[in-house]
Amino acid sequence: MQAETPRLTFDIKPNTNPMPEADRLKAFENLGFGTLFSDHMAVIRWSEGKGWHSAEVTARAPFPIDPASSVLHYAQEIFEGMKAYRTSDGRAVLFRPEENAHRFNESARRMAMPELPEEAFIEAVEKLVRLDAKWIPQGEGASLYLRPFMFASENFLGVRPSKEYIFCVIASPVGPYFKGGAKPVSIWVSEHYTRAAPGGTGAAKCGGNYAASLVAQAEAYAKGCDQVVFLDAAEHKWVEELGGMNVFFVFEDGSIVTPPLGGTILPGITRKSLISLAREEGVTVHEKPYSFEEWKADVASGKLKEAFACGTAAVVAAIGTVKYPEGEFQIGGGQNGPVTTKLRDALVGIQRGQSNDRHGWLHAI
Ligand code: PMP
Repeated sequence: MQAETPRLTFDIKPNTNPMPEADRLKAFENLGFGTLFSDHMAVIRWSEGKGWHSAEVTARAPFPIDPASSVLHYAQEIFEGMKAYRTSDGRAVLFRPEENAHRFNESARRMAMPELPEEAFIEAVEKLVRLDAKWIPQGEGASLYLRPFMFASENFLGVRPSKEYIFCVIASPVGPYFKGGAKPVSIWVSEHYTRAAPGGTGAAKCGGNYAASLVAQAEAYAKGCDQVVFLDAAEHKWVEELGGMNVFFVFEDGSIVTPPLGGTILPGITRKSLISLAREEGVTVHEKPYSFEEWKADVASGKLKEAFACGTAAVVAAIGTVKYPEGEFQIGGGQNGPVTTKLRDALVGIQRGQSNDRHGWLHAI
């Protein structure tokens, strides 16, 4: 479905009852992930025949929702995850927002939803961040997490694509994703549950993928792990990705392996950026299938030196411990390895404006 809307004009309606500054600063002292929200939201509506319309940035507030709203029944919903950073010289920046806008539309196509022109996606995010600029927390690991999303809002129980949608962006000041900070994480290998099958929705960022992953994530928590890693649905053999992060393996010869984008894993923007950064350093990066059996054998033989997970929320997190139904093993003595640390520092250096943004990845607000 192509977006038929020309250029949207946003109606800006500042919140007349924003959170008092003292309360906001108090809340900043103890930032978690996704529990605190800024004063505003950006909203754009879509109706069949009319296209995108009624763009506004307004006080964050609940949406009245009819019990027949189709998202509640058939889960026609997609989202994105990105961050606004405060650089060390005080600028507010986004990281590669055009990649999020592009992936959002890939998700929209897979879920039979209307595409939003990329410039409207970016403008909605920019206008929200500008109005809520004081909500970008400063300090190591802190940022303003942005959640663009779109859901089917037609009141209709037939099983077909909705004729009405709401696009919205909300913002949440966040600290580090994992409670342990930069400590290596432990992961649980889900041998029973899979996340996405060939031809399914694995490459789309749709709510349903995450709903289906929660039982496996709960199993990981019950086993004392931070995250779950999924194997492929067809053979239960190939390592795919974590519940909300892509995965990389570092070998003794210095090469790196990450599972390929075959439609069953999310094409992570952090993944893509790290592949570029590593290759520019002369590192060989293979995007190729890697099995859990190989993983175990390579750790046992000492061939595998490091493994890490990456994503917007968690940035780059070393994997220290891997547990599975029959046992567990450690990687790199459960410590952060040098390649993981170097890649994380290179990425964070760009995001925080401390290193030269030679790729033009930063988007000033
Ligand atoms: N895989 C999944 C399933 C995710 O939810 C995410 C987070 N968006 C990622 C990978 C990493 O993607 P990105 O680097 O774009 O945040």
